Amino acid sequence: MEIIKGIGVSPGVVICPAIVLDAEDLVIPRRTIDASAVEVEVVRLNDAVTKAEEELEALRATLVASHGKEIASIFDFHSGLLRDKALMKQIVGEIRTQLSNAEFAVSVCMRKLAGMFAKMKDVYLAERVKDVYDIERRVLHNLIGEKRESLGHLKQNVVVIAHDLLPSQTAALDKGRVKGFACDVGGRTSHTAIVARAMGIPAVVGLGNITNAVSGGDLVIIDGTRGMVIVDPDPDQLVEHEEYVRQHVRLEAELASIAHLPAQTIDGHAVSLMANIEFPGEIDEAFARGATGIGLYRTEFLYMASDVEPTEEDHYNAYREAVQRSQGKPLVIRTLDLGADKYVYGKTQVKEANPFLGDRSIRMCLHNLPMFKNQLRAILRASVEGDIRIMFPMITTVMELRQARMVLNDVMEELEDEGVPFKRDLPVGMMVEVPSAALMANSFAREVNFFSIGTNDLIQYTLAVDRTNEKVAGLFTPAHPAVLMLIRDVIRAANRQGIGISVCGEMAGEPLYTLLLLGMGLNMFSMNGPDVPEVKKIIRSTTTEHARQVARKVLSFDSERQVMHYLREETRKIIPEAF
Ligand code: PEP
Ligand code: MG
Repeated sequence: MEIIKGIGVSPGVVICPAIVLDAEDLVIPRRTIDASAVEVEVVRLNDAVTKAEEELEALRATLVASHGKEIASIFDFHSGLLRDKALMKQIVGEIRTQLSNAEFAVSVCMRKLAGMFAKMKDVYLAERVKDVYDIERRVLHNLIGEKRESLGHLKQNVVVIAHDLLPSQTAALDKGRVKGFACDVGGRTSHTAIVARAMGIPAVVGLGNITNAVSGGDLVIIDGTRGMVIVDPDPDQLVEHEEYVRQHVRLEAELASIAHLPAQTIDGHAVSLMANIEFPGEIDEAFARGATGIGLYRTEFLYMASDVEPTEEDHYNAYREAVQRSQGKPLVIRTLDLGADKYVYGKTQVKEANPFLGDRSIRMCLHNLPMFKNQLRAILRASVEGDIRIMFPMITTVMELRQARMVLNDVMEELEDEGVPFKRDLPVGMMVEVPSAALMANSFAREVNFFSIGTNDLIQYTLAVDRTNEKVAGLFTPAHPAVLMLIRDVIRAANRQGIGISVCGEMAGEPLYTLLLLGMGLNMFSMNGPDVPEVKKIIRSTTTEHARQVARKVLSFDSERQVMHYLREETRKIIPEAF
């Protein structure tokens, strides 16, 4: 039994066997083999190693021909490792004494070796960790080969253990079978965390080295509420957590009963609760949870789920499906927010030293007009089928917004010339997620139809805390008074100008902040579908006056600890079981 603490990023508890993914999605199966099968496994191992050597030789020959001998020498270390008698003896020993299958034996021994290299003071040797992983992957590939288990078609319920789950990997998972995530790295608003919450499954990230502590098939408890993972739990822990799972299921059932009641305070003030989605297929589930529209459609996931750049038709088909599923309810389509942690898996990109401050989001779109226009054309074409609204992400300057609007106008003119129908007056809004935009909210409010506050990025940029870095996760909080002041001012500016205002960052779905946001004058929240019922319960249990009092009090504090403490007390009065 081992307890590992991390950051709980999606609540709930699950108890399931684990699958461990490496960077290439290989599932490393752990099987105890029969003593009579030992020799067969050793032969499989030898064949896989021989094949790996042949592959390396072929690679080396190609490289020598194209780039000369020197470059090809990078494979010397790889070949040397495969011929290393001591290492092979260790792997065979693991098969013979532990009766492990060859895949598992390779993985255990190679990871031990990688761990030894990682600790070395010599920088050159420490760097060799990547080579060890490379060799491990090559041998595993040969072993698993055609039998590679498809993550899209799992045979049983599992929890996924990975170093980091790229959004594109999560997109490919068999969602019906995956019951939880645990990752070595990541923070509260990393996109893996967001996807986990959207799927409504428990997740813990920032666990350090969970991939080494868990082997495929191990029984694992993922406790997303308390931010911990228990590997091979003992019987007492199993009983305790099974009870906890039952409690959680009861709370979910209670919340489901209010899903379709109006989100309205006791004194009759109505609020819109919308959902955030990554794929059109999530819309039905979000509506079933009680969302009354889509407040944020993160379209960049269309890119991340594919190896080739989507065409205008790919975009159009996705938006058409989304608008049809939305059945006349609002659908806010955010234009591409690629870059930073949302890069396109497997595609070569120029490395940036500070990608979160780099060529991401609207900047990337304005630097790549054909790509941007493709998307805008598709959104406009789909707009005739429902209530589509366009939203530009990461706007930092007024000029940037005007430029984006100009491109939109150009695209409208092109479509008009071609005789393609679209809605000319569709609402155009912007994310407020950079402090410069929040501080200039009054100016921006004159140029758009609505704002949506992206607290994930607003917090990261205001507090100088990388949202994906587990080392500084403790500093990442919406409760910081500076963040709260910016949010208050943006809501005020929007209300004064009479334009739409919502919050679509993760804060909107955290029950702890519902009273506060309501009291600040927010009328629209957009969150992951599974969060809707809990937020609705709070709204239905309070009055506008009480929420205003809470906001006034909170804005008088100067530390996040006071803010959290007070909000916890106030919210606990409504949902005692939530904290
Ligand atoms: C945000 O930054 O708060 C937001 C909603 O956008 P994303 O999480 O996609 O960056
Ligand atoms: Mg953002």
